[in-house]
Amino acid sequence: MYDQFNRRINYLRISVTDRCNLRCTYCMPEEGIVQIPHSQILSFEEIVEVTKVAVRNGFEKVRITGGEPLVRKGIVELVRMLTSIEGITDFGLTTNGTLLKKFAMPLFDAGLKRINVSLDTLDPNKYKSLTRVGTLSDVLEGLEEAKRVGFNPIKLNCVVEKSSSEPDAQAVKAFAEANGFIARFIPKMNLDEGVFGVVEGGEGGHCSTCNRLRLTANGTLLPCLFSDIGYNVRELGIENAIEMAIKNKPACGIANRTGEFYNIGG
Ligand code: SAM
Ligand code: SF4
Repeated sequence: MYDQFNRRINYLRISVTDRCNLRCTYCMPEEGIVQIPHSQILSFEEIVEVTKVAVRNGFEKVRITGGEPLVRKGIVELVRMLTSIEGITDFGLTTNGTLLKKFAMPLFDAGLKRINVSLDTLDPNKYKSLTRVGTLSDVLEGLEEAKRVGFNPIKLNCVVEKSSSEPDAQAVKAFAEANGFIARFIPKMNLDEGVFGVVEGGEGGHCSTCNRLRLTANGTLLPCLFSDIGYNVRELGIENAIEMAIKNKPACGIANRTGEFYNIGG
């Protein structure tokens, strides 16, 4: 489907949970978050139905995100349900990698082949303070396992202050090159203040070619990361919510005062 600015909207990012086992400083407040009540979180059947309707409307690319998608109970089953939908040509998942050692093999067997792992530093102490609670070796072991089971490509999402010339980013770049991973550098954004950045080595940040809709864990379709508008699939019906989200996708985002990365999915 094309929007009113002639952009072909074919990429659905699905946040399957707002919960996370980390507390990254740039993503979540230290005290934690007000969690969406379980009754409002879309069931697997609802997520699959939204995806099927999206695919019928020309969507081809799907990415699972969160919160941390691997903390959603039954995630492997959900991935299996989604990868069996015909018409998806590009299916990926973004994770912080901390649970990947356990999940890489079952996810691969369920049909997931592409994975993005967030990694901002290779310094264990910095990793701990950045994520408040995380352990770097969990991610490194997760990546090793993902490589061993055959994920391809494995991309590293590295959040930077400004650019990839920063020392931590350079270390991530070298690590990626040494392991056959692809590094992408995401400038730290502030949704509330509308501080927005173009992803180095990726597609994000170019409004004129933006092809995305985002589905939050409680079923709201967001046409733009930097806008407050959203259309809930339970309230409006799936077909209708998709149509309205595409029709009202802004030419360019300004600011988002209602959402954060952990409930939108990045
Ligand atoms: N928990 C998973 C993870 O961290 O990969 C998936 C969800 S997370 C919200 C998706 C992406 O958003 C991650 O790569 C994360 O680094 C990025 N992100 C979170 N807050 C950000 C911010 N303020 N600016 C730029 N990227 C951000
Ligand atoms: Fe969790 Fe990902 Fe946000 Fe970090 S960036 S707190 S891992 S959702």
